[in-house]
Amino acid sequence: MHIGGLLKYSLIDYPPHISCVIFTAGCNFRCPYCHNPELAVTGPDTRHLSRDEIMDFLVSRQKYLDGVVISGGEPTLHPDLGGFCADLQSMGFLVKLDTNGSRPEVIQDLVENRLVDYLAMDIKTDPELYNQYIAHQADAAALRSSVQIILESGLAHEFRTTCVSPLTTRETVKAMAELVTGADLHAFQHVQNKKVLNPNFFTGQKRVPSDAQIDEFQTIMAGYVKKAIIR
Ligand code: SF4
Repeated sequence: MHIGGLLKYSLIDYPPHISCVIFTAGCNFRCPYCHNPELAVTGPDTRHLSRDEIMDFLVSRQKYLDGVVISGGEPTLHPDLGGFCADLQSMGFLVKLDTNGSRPEVIQDLVENRLVDYLAMDIKTDPELYNQYIAHQADAAALRSSVQIILESGLAHEFRTTCVSPLTTRETVKAMAELVTGADLHAFQHVQNKKVLNPNFFTGQKRVPSDAQIDEFQTIMAGYVKKAIIR
């Protein structure tokens, strides 16, 4: 597993738990607004932390951290993810996985073997529009499958959407809401567009929905899930 970053302490990534966040490097999507470009596309600016370094850190924080968040990049691309999760759980940590949902077979394996305690999946837009905005080879059926696995997992979970035009509109929110019907939680997130993967996407374009629009998105979503929030 290529680990490209570590946030040593967080109160907001796995609430109500105190956690650290491990960032895996490499992603199969190319979200134009991605604010971790050096993790999404590996290159000279991508860090390389050894597994030993990470394990030494975790041993030193075992008493102080409740959980570990594995984020990215896209963690499910790494074949040793399951083993890593098992190691974390055996150390007494709760494990939260952040995923883009592109690899349902990996999520299924983690669920079946109870190797994660919390699943958070991005829903970036209507699955049928991923090819246009997120990745040329995106598989809408795989995304839908991941959602179903998570909904039926019996594990705590959330779905989240970064609000950016034209991926997040009244119409796409309706499609996303139908997809995640019955979910524990859905969160809309404000886009952070200071450092992004594709700055040209924002140049001369109004990409950031207004607060009133995001409120409307939340109201639509609230009709489909147990709890809908804005972060
Ligand atoms: S925001 Fe998109 S490109 Fe960036 S890491 Fe997540 S899925 Fe990959």
